[in-house]
Amino acid sequence: MNMPSHTTATPLTTIRAAIAQSEKIAGRPAGSTTLIAISKTKPVEAIEALVGEGQRVFGENRVQEAEAKFPDLRARYPDLELHMVGQLQSNKADEAVALFDFIHSLDRMSLAKALATAMDKAGRQVPCFVQVNIGEEEQKGGCAIADLPQFLEQVRALGLPVIGLMAVPPADVEPAPYFALLAKLAREAGLEQLSIGMSGDFETAVRIGATHVRIGSALFGAR
Ligand SMILES: *Cc1c(COP(=O)(O)O)cnc(C)c1O
Repeated sequence: MNMPSHTTATPLTTIRAAIAQSEKIAGRPAGSTTLIAISKTKPVEAIEALVGEGQRVFGENRVQEAEAKFPDLRARYPDLELHMVGQLQSNKADEAVALFDFIHSLDRMSLAKALATAMDKAGRQVPCFVQVNIGEEEQKGGCAIADLPQFLEQVRALGLPVIGLMAVPPADVEPAPYFALLAKLAREAGLEQLSIGMSGDFETAVRIGATHVRIGSALFGAR
């Protein structure tokens, strides 16, 4: 078949098509999933290549690395949107609030207090996802499932803008039950946004209701 060159598949177009297909299967509106391109460890040139393809939403997992790469990129592409998806230390709250548009890793009171203070100081509200330790794994970040209702109450009392829940399910097991559990917890808490799904499981996540998928290696290649 002779295809015009502008229809050549790239990782980005392939993933967008897979997201669209999963939205359709789930009966969800087209475009209701935000694709966050996770650019951790990847150079500015790789990010710019995706910007050239029309991608505008990116995610990083370290404040310092994001500070090294994104101010310059944002100066050149003012419509970029940047998400913090990694564990965040309370002493980096000021930097995080200044740099990121969304934070996906709010998981403890000390961090909530630091972020609330930083947002007040900066006069800038950064919407947050509360990260849940959905597989109850000792080594993983995230609020314990049993503690979630009280934690949400406390962060809301601080005035933090909480918009949804985020989770990373246990590796090497079927993720669907964990995604479904997180979706249920979000419904019960009256939260609409769901940050689930990575390179290996984003189609499952979209079918279960992901509003944000966080995709690194499938877009940029292995790290
Ligand atoms: C690295 C990372 C991702 C992306 O993982 P891939 O498997 O490369 O798609 C998603 N979420 C978080 C929290 C990450 O740290």
